[in-house]
Formats: sequence, C-alpha cells, structure tokens
Amino acid sequence: MTVFDGETCYKVDPIKPTRKYAKRLRIRQKALSRKVKGSNNRRKAVKVVAKVHEKISNTRQDFLHKLSRKLCDDNQVIVAENLCVKGLARSKLAKSIHDAGFGMLLNFISYKLKREGGKFVQVDRFFPSSKLCSCCGQKNDLLNLSIREWICPHCQTVHDRDKNASRNLRAEGIRIMSTNTVGHTEFQACGETVRLVGTCAKKRVSKKQESPATPLCGSRRECQSGNENSQTRVAHAYLRRHEN
Ligand SMILES: [Zn+2]
Repeated sequence: MTVFDGETCYKVDPIKPTRKYAKRLRIRQKALSRKVKGSNNRRKAVKVVAKVHEKISNTRQDFLHKLSRKLCDDNQVIVAENLCVKGLARSKLAKSIHDAGFGMLLNFISYKLKREGGKFVQVDRFFPSSKLCSCCGQKNDLLNLSIREWICPHCQTVHDRDKNASRNLRAEGIRIMSTNTVGHTEFQACGETVRLVGTCAKKRVSKKQESPATPLCGSRRECQSGNENSQTRVAHAYLRRHEN
C-alpha cells in the first residue's frame, strides 16, 4: 500500500499473518486429525487449533487498527481507490489480498474518520490512476501490471507505479472535493459505509493534510470491544465446525 500526504510518499508493507502462522497451524491441525472422533483429547485439540486462527485474526486486526488510527490522526481527508477486491481475490494474488485485509482497512478508516468529522473520498475504480502521468497528465496505455517503473514518453519523468498512482489519486480526490459533483467519479461522504465482504477495497491510500490538528479519538475502548467480538466469532465459528 502506498501513502502520499502531499509531500512525502511512502509504502506500508502489508502483513501476512496467514503465512506467518502457517507452520504452527499445520502442526496443530495435524495433531487434531490424529485424535479419535468424539474424544476429550480431540475437543482439546480443536481449541488449540482455534487459538491459532484467533491469533491470525488478532494480528491482522491489530495492524489495521493501528494503521487506520495513524492515518485518521494525521489527516482529515483520506482519498482511497475503490478497488474490486472480489475480482482480485479470484486472481493469483488471492491469499495476499485476503491476508492484507484491504477491505477491513477501508472499513476502519471510514468509521474512524466519520467519528472525528473527517471526510473519506473514494475514487472510482475506473479512474486510470496508474496510467496517468502525475506531472503532465499524459495517459500511458502501454502499462500493464508487470511494469513497476516507467518513463513518461511526453515529459520524460521517471515514475514508480504506485507512487505515481497515489499522486494521481490525491489530485483526483481534491478535484472531487472541490467540485463535489457526481459524475464519472463518485463522491462518498464520510458517512458512507464500506462493506467488508462487498466489492470495494483499496490498495493505495492517498492522504491530504488539511489541518494538522486532528482531535484524538476518545473512544478507543469501542474499537477494542468491536475487535474482541469479531475475534471470538472467528474462534467460535471454528469450534462449531469441528465439533460436528
Ligand atoms: Zn508526463
């Protein structure tokens, strides 16, 4: 994920909890499969496996909560690209996409900003954020996913694919904000919800710094309780599945 705040552009490495805990999960699932059905030992092993799943879920949510908190504290307006996660999840990158939890991050940013009176702008996924040159506005149709760096044929600027896209998204976000029209790009006020399982999520966040003084979130407790609920839900769902 690439973040651009108007001055600096930096990349946030997505976490891969599923991969990180894959070995632990495999070992404990193997142990579970060796237990006799209906036995007490099996019941214990189910709990042990569920704990690994909980750990994975907690790691991901912890990271996303911290990241979205930082983004919302630093900015009053956040522009994000509205990517088609369902489509991406069907591609080769599926595991990474799910693991990173782009949709969840959008969701967290959306409600945190809403609570603090900020604005969350989503740029339509058909906006050619990667293909436009952020310097001269020329559109380069020759780009494909494998090209990470390119030189604009018009102004000769060397572009990093994601950094260029985040610059374009920021500019587009400002344009949407200033015109506030519903046209080719959609404007979503901060109150708009972003569904987790829905079709949208983002890869690049582009931040706009309007005023450095953003009120701190006073209801962190609320995030944590929401967090716990979903954790236990995962663990319980897993337990149910195995007890049958
Ligand atoms: Zn150019």
